[in-house]
Amino acid sequence: MVFGHDTEASLVAAVALANSAEPPDTLGTVAALDEYYVEHAYSGRHDRTRAELDEVRALRPALRALLTADRDEAVALVNELLARHHAVPQLLRHDGSDWHLHAVENDQPFATRIAVETAMAMIDVIRADEMSRLAVCADEDCQGIVLDLSRNRSRRFCSTTCGNRAAVAAYRARQAERV
Ligand SMILES: [Zn+2]
Ligand SMILES: [Zn+2]
Repeated sequence: MVFGHDTEASLVAAVALANSAEPPDTLGTVAALDEYYVEHAYSGRHDRTRAELDEVRALRPALRALLTADRDEAVALVNELLARHHAVPQLLRHDGSDWHLHAVENDQPFATRIAVETAMAMIDVIRADEMSRLAVCADEDCQGIVLDLSRNRSRRFCSTTCGNRAAVAAYRARQAERV
């Protein structure tokens, strides 16, 4: 594991959310947000309303900016987010998860909690000087964010779809050379 379990879970969730904005947008309905909430094992307030969905959708550009920022830019964004939301880190243990950090109350809007949780996770990334774990997909036509938590830093594509497309293209290029 590169970071703590809660940090890694927050990063995975933040990247998935930012990437959902890439065409075709995959976060268009309250049901899709519900799926996201369950898939990433969130706890706390979840309104299941259009207003909540709109807030979470509107958060995506800021998440993308934070996740793809250089280290010093990321520091400014993290500090700003934590100050704006009056983050107070507290260790909690609940729902079968071991001690981990929450920095805003569970009754805060879902979008607020995602933003603060991502900022908290980025603290670890910044302090460990591991910004290179985050990159834009190696596929030229894709702007998806890649989170590489592998030991040998081998991940280059945001999804298996992009990875497979690149493998097929490389295979075709080799075949063409042979003719
Ligand atoms: Zn928790
Ligand atoms: Zn991609």
